[in-house]
Amino acid sequence: MIPPIADRFVAGESPATALEHVRQLNDNDVKAIVNLLGEHYEDRDAVAADAAEYRQLVDDIAGSRLAACLSVKPSQLGLDLGEDVFRSELAGIVDAAAERDVFVWLDMEDHTTTDATLDAFETVAREHGGGVGVCVQANLRRTRADVRRLADVPGKVRLVKGAYDPPADVAYTDSARVDQEYRTLLEDAFERYDGGIAVGSHDPAMLEHAMALHDRYGTDFEIQMLMGVREDAQYDLTDEYEVWQYVPYGDRWLSYFYRRVAERKANLRFALRAVLSG
Ligand code: FAD
Repeated sequence: MIPPIADRFVAGESPATALEHVRQLNDNDVKAIVNLLGEHYEDRDAVAADAAEYRQLVDDIAGSRLAACLSVKPSQLGLDLGEDVFRSELAGIVDAAAERDVFVWLDMEDHTTTDATLDAFETVAREHGGGVGVCVQANLRRTRADVRRLADVPGKVRLVKGAYDPPADVAYTDSARVDQEYRTLLEDAFERYDGGIAVGSHDPAMLEHAMALHDRYGTDFEIQMLMGVREDAQYDLTDEYEVWQYVPYGDRWLSYFYRRVAERKANLRFALRAVLSG
């Protein structure tokens, strides 16, 4: 069972609990990005099992007509075992999803995986003419060039600040500098892209900037936020915008939970209080 301390961020352990959460979101006009928790597998069987569960999710989502898509992690699909393993499992999921009209996102992990992730994304995106998206991180110095490169690739791009802790030679480490970079990347994307921009942020200043750019350029975009973070804002924003909630589920919740806690001092206090009070 997911402990109460983590269940704010994680929709249970099974596909059934996750899809029930999705149904409730859809009832409130919020769409869902479903992620089976799992990363850095060194065991081929674990990779195959998660890939099979994603293909089953495609059928479940399409069969129940939920407004939902998938988000997968490269290291969950075997990137640590080799790029060939990752690409082949990704292709299997994207082929199955394309047949049932289910969208697939690729999450972005630490900076050592960026090239392999973007290359694999570009291959499947060109093969299917869309139906897939990739996440890019504003804290990486390389991302301005990546956003320009992705303008010519079919599919969507999710812009986030970055949840990992990359070294200063490849990343901006000061949060004000990351915010400034996020704004510049939004400007580049709204100016260059035909649509397909996902603003993956809870930060009101970044969201307002995206809304102003949408008014200026007319470029379509969607807002994406995490389960358990600013959920009231997610519901309110559906009046005017397309809102997607990232919904992780599964029993491998610990690393994901640590990243969410590390993002915010208030979460750290909340976690410590829960641990200390038993
Ligand atoms: P922040 O400046 O961190 O936060 C702005 C405000 O949002 C805070 O003041 C607070 O009110 C609220 N807030 C933010 N985080 C939390 C939290 N954990 N708990 C409570 N309140 C919070 N990162 C990756 O590196 N790779 C990915 O593939 C990836 N995918 C993502 C997908 C989605 C849909 C989203 C929303 C984020 C994703 N991230 C990913 C995480 C992202 O990089 C940031 O770490 C995270 O979104 C926090 O940044 P922020 O833009 O919300 O701004």
